[in-house]
Amino acid sequence: MPSVYIKTYGCQMNERDSEAVAAQLEAKGYTLAPSEAGADVILLNTCSVRDFAEQKALNKMVNVIAETRRNRPDVVLGFMGCMAQSRGQELIDRLPDVDLVLGTQKFHRAADYLEELLAGRREKIVDVAAERGSEATIREHLPNGSAKKSVTAFVSIMQGCNQYCTFCIVPYTRGEERSRTIPDIVAECRQLVSQGVREITLLGQIVTSYGKRGNVSLAPRGTSGERGRVTGNVENRLLTPALSSFGEEREKTPFVQLLDAVHEIEGLERIRFTSPHPKGYGDDLIEAYARLPRLVEHAHLPVQSGSDRVLKLMHRGYTRTRYVGIIEKLRRAKPDIGISTDIIVGFPGETEDDFEQTLSLAREVEFDQAYIFKYSQRRDTPAAEMPDQIPQKIRADRNQRLLEVINEIAKRRYGAFVGRQTQILVEGPSKKNPARMTGRTRCNKIVVFDGSERHRGQLMDVKITRAGSFTLYGDPAILGED
Ligand code: SF4
Repeated sequence: MPSVYIKTYGCQMNERDSEAVAAQLEAKGYTLAPSEAGADVILLNTCSVRDFAEQKALNKMVNVIAETRRNRPDVVLGFMGCMAQSRGQELIDRLPDVDLVLGTQKFHRAADYLEELLAGRREKIVDVAAERGSEATIREHLPNGSAKKSVTAFVSIMQGCNQYCTFCIVPYTRGEERSRTIPDIVAECRQLVSQGVREITLLGQIVTSYGKRGNVSLAPRGTSGERGRVTGNVENRLLTPALSSFGEEREKTPFVQLLDAVHEIEGLERIRFTSPHPKGYGDDLIEAYARLPRLVEHAHLPVQSGSDRVLKLMHRGYTRTRYVGIIEKLRRAKPDIGISTDIIVGFPGETEDDFEQTLSLAREVEFDQAYIFKYSQRRDTPAAEMPDQIPQKIRADRNQRLLEVINEIAKRRYGAFVGRQTQILVEGPSKKNPARMTGRTRCNKIVVFDGSERHRGQLMDVKITRAGSFTLYGDPAILGED
């Protein structure tokens, strides 16, 4: 059987999609190649969020074509994912050596299409059409892209986004919000736990909108009246009444109902999720942190800007005050919670004063980590057509200034861990130094320590001895030492 190499660009959703395609192909008898050298099929799973990511994948394909076509003309070359979705046929027009272009709702067709191409029944295939129900088509996956025992796994709970932030291409590449059912998701999580996975990250472009749109049924097709069944547009609809610890009777959103259901899985140690949207971050979700011990103390809450004027231009749907209010509530519920965020600098029309407000927000919130992005014009998005595009030099300058503030805060926050004992889940060897092991704290900090393969999958207490740049170093804690 042929071998396949999949290279992934971009976010965790893409990682998860690549795992799913890998599992699908392996089930058909393909072997997974560790690199493109010698592979019979080479697939690039692409990202469109920034121009840089698109250029990287395009350049990679140009190099792959140069290397393979001369000596191995039969190798099948394909693009899949977001850039495949947004550019479609254009990719083959530009690079005629490419055989397959697979859109974001078509991952489950990969094996069939490759079979047709390898058998020579079709010469080129471009499929970027929308497909109803595609969000629930792939359940099997190979965690971290290999059959090797993995401790952590991503589980996709929904596809698409309806927020239409003015800078973002995702609603165009991933389509409308479509959610899988709670039983489907729980079944996938159970399966992963039975394979040894101890931590699951629930994934979606906007997980706080899980189950809110369309005629979605959160129960499996063909059933009715089960717990969690929701039909129709359920935004703001009350589903399961719950007495909150905040003292009011309120109801749980579908996303919190999903967290409750996943939390019940025996053997699962930790639950994470990404990315939520501040607009959908209700009190029931904040309360879930206090109520559900397996839900770890970490929130990745993209803020994008500290200026209300820019947030409005971005169509984010919240204000700085609302954002800061959520962080305050989270820290009241869980004082040790780690907070990370995404920030865009140089959005069209961003003035020096707007940018100063982003700097002041970073200082006010004290993020543990922030991913800073220089605004990148994406075609067909409203922001690309806005006046007052900010020159690259100013974007780069603001990026640097914000980075300095974020690094200074992180140094302090990571430094505060030195001397403390904390629990980690051991994930495997360190990427930088495979002789050492890495684990992750509940608040999402990486800890490197001297350990061995036998520690993989263990929940361990470590004593932090040193803090580096966004990494902690520790020693396995000796009970009773303190
Ligand atoms: S919420 Fe905004 S930034 Fe996030 S995926 Fe949706 S449109 Fe893009």
